[in-house]
Amino acid sequence: MIEIILLVSSVLFIFALKLFGRPSTAHRANTFAMLAMALAVFSAFNFDFSNYDSAFYITIIVSGLLGVLISKRVQMTQMPELVGLFNGFGGGASGAIAYVELSKSTLPLSDYFVAIFSMVIGMFTFSGSIVAVLKLRGKLNNVNTTIANIFSAFLPPLILLPAIWESEILSLEYFMLLSLIAGIIRVAVIGGADMPVVIAFLNSLSGIAAMSAGFIVNSIILIIAGALVGASGIILTLLMCAAMNRTLLDVLKGGFGSKSINNEYDKDPISTSPEDVAIQLSYAESVIIVPGYGMAVAQAQSAVKELTNTLKDKNIEVKFAIHPVAGRMPGHMNVLLAEVDIDYEDMYTLEDINSEFSSTDVVIVLGANDVVNPLARTDEDSPIYGMPILDVDLAKQVIVIKRSMSPGYAGISNPLFINDNAKMLFADAKEGLEKIIKSFELV
Ligand code: NDP
Repeated sequence: MIEIILLVSSVLFIFALKLFGRPSTAHRANTFAMLAMALAVFSAFNFDFSNYDSAFYITIIVSGLLGVLISKRVQMTQMPELVGLFNGFGGGASGAIAYVELSKSTLPLSDYFVAIFSMVIGMFTFSGSIVAVLKLRGKLNNVNTTIANIFSAFLPPLILLPAIWESEILSLEYFMLLSLIAGIIRVAVIGGADMPVVIAFLNSLSGIAAMSAGFIVNSIILIIAGALVGASGIILTLLMCAAMNRTLLDVLKGGFGSKSINNEYDKDPISTSPEDVAIQLSYAESVIIVPGYGMAVAQAQSAVKELTNTLKDKNIEVKFAIHPVAGRMPGHMNVLLAEVDIDYEDMYTLEDINSEFSSTDVVIVLGANDVVNPLARTDEDSPIYGMPILDVDLAKQVIVIKRSMSPGYAGISNPLFINDNAKMLFADAKEGLEKIIKSFELV
């Protein structure tokens, strides 16, 4: 019976993963995944509730309630932090299982190395994820990469040190400590804005740690679920790196954005007002909106919906151009726009919309910067050179809504802002849009 339940749980996990592929089915995917996880947890104690004492039930109930409470309160923009925290605890749990099994010292040699592997990866994921979360919250600054390099240089002798010790248990704890320190140092040198990629990578590691813990305790579901997390996590990591035209090694080496890059402009941009933007839009037949990180910061999605409705009421065609790494997490823009019921059919990927910019009347760049930076096509020295971008600079008229000429995540200037076809509306994304909508009433 338990084996059938575990089979159902595994199938549900796989189905959930498939359904997560489309925004319209992602909700159902969550339900499937929840069900699969519940089946996996209950089957772990053979559905025999009599064998466990009250401490066990209190732990399950309290942790379950905490999970619900935290997830309910979390803001959409804090989602990477939450995922990071869950990864960390997952890795820590796998590491702890491995440690307990190793300290029993009855483990066959074949399992011994798998257990060491699980403990090291699990503990690395735990401490690395906590540092990643602190960085995303802005509570921890970048650590100099030299510290990480010195630590890496000393790592081989540090690993060999227990060979001269007698006690096996002490060696285990020593390895555990080393893994925790390695996690802290490796993640601490990586720039705060790279944390979403790091979190996806740590997610993959937490899956690998769980999978190897599954081999030690003979849990099929832990092996399957761990393998799914490990594989999907690494695919997501590589997709994010590819969309930024960087390698995983580049990200993990750290130091991105720490070089001082010239971001001066040799002429002033043309600035505009909400009233002028409303007039410009009312003459348009087609509009493309390019959302970016600034839309998420300003929580401007409701204002975007309102503007979209206003434009559509005037028979103006509105499309959304979504860059794969716009914002700070994969699917960030899709999720925010879906929250306010923007039609999925109106959201276009980079490949699908890039040819349309030159024939579109007005393009609104809303709090986006790097994803529309033409230097990615032209400047070989630019850190974003080679990253596919939305070809907004080819549009007839561009309106950029952001607060200043400040750079985005990559820390570089954007020649689009001083292009002859571009006008800057210096404002918070939400306030700017609200003023445009108000001005429409006067047009
Ligand atoms: P950027 O980070 O390039 O630019 C965001 C812009 O938003 C800034 O220039 C800022 O300008 C503006 N902004 C900030 N707050 C507000 C506000 N309240 N109102 C209006 N504007 C605001 O964002 P993009 O989305 O264009 O690009 C994403 C970047 O993040 C890429 O470089 C990508 O590689 C990187 N990245 C993405 C990940 C992902 O998974 N999506 C993961 C890791 C990195 P100002 O201060 O002047 O207002």
